[in-house]
Parts: sequence; structure tokens; C-alpha cells
Amino acid sequence: MDSSTAGPQPIRRLQQSVINRIAAGEIIHRPSSALKEILENSLDAGATSIRITIKDGGMKLLQIQDNGCGIRKADLPILAERFTTSKISAFQDLEKLTTYGFRGEALASISYVSNLTVTTKTKADACAWKASYVDGAMIVKDGSAAEPKACAGNDGTIITVENLFYNTPARLSALRGSSEEYSRILDVVTKYAIHNPQISFSCKKSGSAAPDLTTPSESSVRNTIRHTYGQTIAKDLIHTEIKPLTVDEEEVMDVDEDDVTKWSAEAYFTNPNYQAKKTVFLLFINHRLVESSRMKKALESIYVGILPKGSSPFVYLSLEINPRLVDVNVHPTKREVHFLDEENITQRISDVIHDVLVGQNQSKTFENKGKERETLDEAEYGDSGGHSEARTPSTVATKKTPSHHKVRTSMQDRTLDSMFPILDPSQAVSVESDPARPPAKVPDIKLSECNLGSVLQLRDEVANAKHQELTEIIQKHIFVGIVDLSRCLSLIQHSKKLYLINHGALCEEFFYQLGLIQFGNYNRIRLEPAPSLRKLVNLAVNAEEGTRNSKLSKEEIVDRIVNIIMIRRDMLQDYFLLEITEGGLVKSLPLLLKGYTPNLDKLPLFLMRLGPQVNWHSETECFESFLRELAYFYVPEPLFSEAQNESGKADTSDSEKATVTAIRWQIQHLLFPAMARYMVPPRTLLDRDVVQVANLPDLYRVFERC
Ligand code: ADP
Ligand code: MG
Repeated sequence: MDSSTAGPQPIRRLQQSVINRIAAGEIIHRPSSALKEILENSLDAGATSIRITIKDGGMKLLQIQDNGCGIRKADLPILAERFTTSKISAFQDLEKLTTYGFRGEALASISYVSNLTVTTKTKADACAWKASYVDGAMIVKDGSAAEPKACAGNDGTIITVENLFYNTPARLSALRGSSEEYSRILDVVTKYAIHNPQISFSCKKSGSAAPDLTTPSESSVRNTIRHTYGQTIAKDLIHTEIKPLTVDEEEVMDVDEDDVTKWSAEAYFTNPNYQAKKTVFLLFINHRLVESSRMKKALESIYVGILPKGSSPFVYLSLEINPRLVDVNVHPTKREVHFLDEENITQRISDVIHDVLVGQNQSKTFENKGKERETLDEAEYGDSGGHSEARTPSTVATKKTPSHHKVRTSMQDRTLDSMFPILDPSQAVSVESDPARPPAKVPDIKLSECNLGSVLQLRDEVANAKHQELTEIIQKHIFVGIVDLSRCLSLIQHSKKLYLINHGALCEEFFYQLGLIQFGNYNRIRLEPAPSLRKLVNLAVNAEEGTRNSKLSKEEIVDRIVNIIMIRRDMLQDYFLLEITEGGLVKSLPLLLKGYTPNLDKLPLFLMRLGPQVNWHSETECFESFLRELAYFYVPEPLFSEAQNESGKADTSDSEKATVTAIRWQIQHLLFPAMARYMVPPRTLLDRDVVQVANLPDLYRVFERC
């Protein structure tokens, strides 16, 4: 057709092709964005191996070979038409879609701004098929019919993008040069490689023999981070899984699978030891690499105060949310995403990471301790034949050790109590100096045979939560003294360090573990004469401040609690030896540690708490919450009545004095030795309950100066 005689081309048509090109440029900004789309298609296709070849920063050539499911020959002619996708069949599907791209625009867009060739073979095909595309349509090469051409090839797909932006010079000139574009490509590949550690990736420049990035298949996120970002990051990584806070267990159990409030996240983030100039933040939402400046800001602000000023962390976060929550109106390649409930989810994730980091910060001393101790020991005991524990015979201490290295070396050494006998007036008689009381013997504790799945699961949880360094500290500690009985604070020493311990928290965890270890095989504490359940609960409810604001009267509360317990009488007796007669008398309690009797002043509180605090509806949670309550009851602490505290009576009664004396003795001579032998301390104790207060050599140095 001769345009000079036919007049100008119809404007609409011209506009359409320009519009398509502009639209394509919106989706495909630069080589790395084309690559990202193509990568996501390969992942959608179930590839386990993805090989990438790049020439000129992707502007000359971008080639991605995968071993995925391939494309059927019949689909090739329409492959690059806009809105053709195998991933949505009906509009409603948009809402459920979890795969990467969802608009069928990527290949079409690429075909508008480059020479696109697709070579593909499905398992069912005998050979591979090859087709080329321009402006959304399959093209005919060398005069043959518009048909894919048969060729040799492996299962999977090779996408070849050549001369990107050849027809949009403005876009091309906006690019930064091939080396910068190449590093952007490597960045995208690296991030997807980390997120898909089971898949092997490689990326290289065309013509070069060695790839710039390779990852093995069947790896892990952590290993892939080590492999790509290096050992410095990997060694300081913390892994955490995060779930929404469940408000009400029962409510949660009833909601349907499609609940929009359900989400889960997995994070790998660096601990306070790691510091970089710039934050590295990898965010995947439903397995798609996205950007969220809000989330990035939130995470960075967690580290303020944890890292020195000017330092930044590395954070990898994979978030899975209901696809319905992702704002589908955001353009698929606008990487900045928004989703419903963004604020709450971000808050929850930040909270969890913050808590873990703060715990980490406090336990920093533990993490480094191993090394430090080694060198100290070498310096000090190097020639004494490998005494590396503080609790070695006192021969070590009598060696000529520099005085600031002198440490308490045996259980027989003086404790705080004997050094400061007037520390607490109620301790006029120091139990340590009471020869009539021999030190307790830690009883043998046997793991009961139990094949209830719930109990095995709870035992596993204890084992998995174990913190190695803390275990060693507890196992090899030397008891220094009780600092404050009512606040449950004690000092222990390990190696050359002094730790302030909340022995209440430690004992609570320990008794919980004793409950699990001996599940179904407890000894019995007989209560004679058996007290009335109702009377005990009544005592506790009446002492309880909180019940004043309750809608129920105290009698009603007592009724309810007694009922809850009475209905479960059989179960309580069978599993826990908590025997209550039909008439409501408490005949026996489980004994968790031979030689230790819990403070029976706390019995009313224990029984009262069984009502509201135990989850009676699910087996695992019931056992766990019951044993936690039992453990809380077992915590060695005196219980002074409010009235006495208020009247400001300095002196306590004789029987209270006796109780206090007994408790102190038990803590030192029975509980700490038993914990050393049997406890599996969890990391969570480091959050608050075990704090290193001094490094003894430093402390002695201070004293020497005085
Ligand atoms: P979308 O990914 O949104 O469906 P695309 O334009 O990216 O749209 O791809 C169009 C279709 O081409 C996909 O739905 C898929 O069926 C097919 N496809 C593209 N790349 C591959 C591949 N590497 N392996 C198998 N199928 C592919
Ligand atoms: Mg796609």
C-alpha cells in the first residue's frame, strides 16, 4: 500500500502500537525486570534447575533455560498475546492465585520491546518446538507458515530475549550501562536463589566459562545465604517463624481455612554482632520478590538501639498471606506492594524479631563466652592438665593464681549466707552452719514410659528449646547465695563469671520439666487430714483482688471453679495423682521431686488457678497448662499475707521464720543441685532470668584498687 496516495495511517492504529510499547516499558523497565518475570515463569513451571546467560547487561541477550513443565505446542501461537495466561481461567481465580505473575502480560510486553524466541518441550512431546514473537504475535521466519518449528531440545523451556529496547531508544539510553545492569540481574537471581534453596541456579556472562553465581539444588536458606552473601552474614543469622497472635483459641479453631487473618512468616535476620553499611532486605510475599518501604523502615527501626549508629542489618523475610489480601490492583511489576492488615502484620513481625534480638543481646556474653573461657583457662591452668571447670578440686585454686583470677572453686566454699549472716534478719540461724542438717542428696529421676503423642510432643519441645551454653552454666555452676528470697533472686558462679538468677523462674521451668519427665509415674504427697477443695478455693478467691470487678459474686466464682475441677476428677487422679474424693476432699498431690515439699500455703492459689488457667479442651494444651500451673505452685517462695505487709510488721512469726529457713535450705541444697543434674534450660530464660552481673577477674581488679 502506498501511503502517499492512501493518506496517513489511521491514527487509532498508530496510537495502539505506541501505547502497547509504552505499556510494555512500564512492565519491563530494564533487563533485570524482564529477567524477574521470566524467572518467575520458570519457577511456576516447576523447574529445579535454572540457567541464565547474559550479554551486555542483558541488553543484547537474556537467555533463561529451565527444566520445567514446558509449553504445549498448541499454546505457542498465542503465548505472547496480552492477557493470555495458563494461570487464570475465570476472573474469580484472580483472588486465589498464588503463582507469581498473574496477568499474562510479561511475555507479551517483552515481545513488544525485543526479539523474543521460545524453545520448549513438554515431557509428552517427542521433540522441542521453537517460535519467535514480535509485538505480541508469533512471527514467520524465512517465509514458512506461522507454525512453531520442530527442533532438538531437552524437557523444559528456553526463553531468549535479544536486543531489548531496540525499538524504544529513550528507554535504552536511560539504562545505566551493562555492568550495572548485570549486577542488578545478579541481585535478582541471588534473591530468588535464597528463597528457592531447593532449586539450582546459575548465572553467567555469555562467552565466559565460569558462572558468576551458582547454587546447588536441595540446599537450605541459610546455606544459600552463606553461599551468596558470605560467611560473615551467615554466622550471625537468627531464624524465626512468626504467626499471628491468636486472641482466643476456641474462636480460632472454628474459623474456616480461607480466613483472611491467617498468615505466616519466616525470617532470617542478623544478630547484633553483624553490622553493615546498608540494610539488605529481601522480602518475599507469597513467593514473589517485592518491595515494601514501610516494612523496611519498621525493621530498620528495630535495630536502632541494638546496632551502633550507622550500622545496618541483613533481613530475609518470607511472608505468606491470603492472596486475597494482596492488592491486585497494584501493577504486577510495581514491586512496592500493599496488602490488607499491613500495619498489624508488620507490627507483629517487628515485635517478634525485636524480642528475639533483645534476648540475643543479653545472651551475647554467653555466645562469646566459650571462646573467652578457653583463653583464660589456657592462661591460668594451661599447665595443670586441662582443668577447665570452675568446680575442680581446690588444688587449682591453691596454685599461685593471680588474685584477680581467684574464683570460688567448690561447693564447700563459703556462700553469701555465711559471709553475711545478717543480710536478712529472719536468717538469724544460718542453715549452712547448722550441723544437724546434712546436705540433701539429689534423688534419681527416671523418665517415665509414656506413649501419649501429646506428652511426647511436649517433651520434644523442651528438648528443642535447649540452650547449650546455659545448660553448661547450670550444670557446672557454683551456688553463691540467695540475694532476695521474696523476689526469687540468687547468685551463681560459673567459670569466672557471676550470674544473677531468678531462681523462681528457673525452678518453675524445672518443675514443669519434672512433670513431663515423670508423666503418669509420680509419687504422691498425702494430705492428712484431707482439706476441702471448696474451702481452699474459697480462701484463694477471697484473697484475690481481681474478683472485685467481676460480674459474678465470689460464691459464684468458687462454684464454677469447684465444678470445673470436680468434673475432671478422674482425669486428674489418673494422670496427675491429684486425688479428690467424691465429697470434695483433696487427698493427694503429685510429688515432683523427692525430698521437696511445695509450700502448702500456695495450695489454695494453685487450686483456684486450675479453673481459669488450664485449657481443658485440647489434650496437649491441657497437659501443658496443668503442668505449668503445678510448676508454679512448686516454686519455692514464701507467701506472706497482705495484712502483715500492710501493718509493716518487721518481725515475722516463728512458723514463718521456719518456713523461710526451710525454703532457703531447699533452694541451695536440693533445687540447684537437682537442676544442675536434670534441667534442660531453654533459651527463653536468657531474656530476663539469667543475667551476667560480673566478670570476676574485673571485679577483683576493682577490689584491689580499693
Ligand atoms: P503469566 O505468567 O502471568 O501467566 P506470562 O506472560 O508471564 O503470563 O506467561 C504466559 C504463559 O506462558 C504462562 O501462563 C505459562 O503458561 C506460559 N509460560 C511462560 N513461561 C513458561 C515456562 N518457562 N515454562 C512453562 N510455561 C511457561
Ligand atoms: Mg509470568
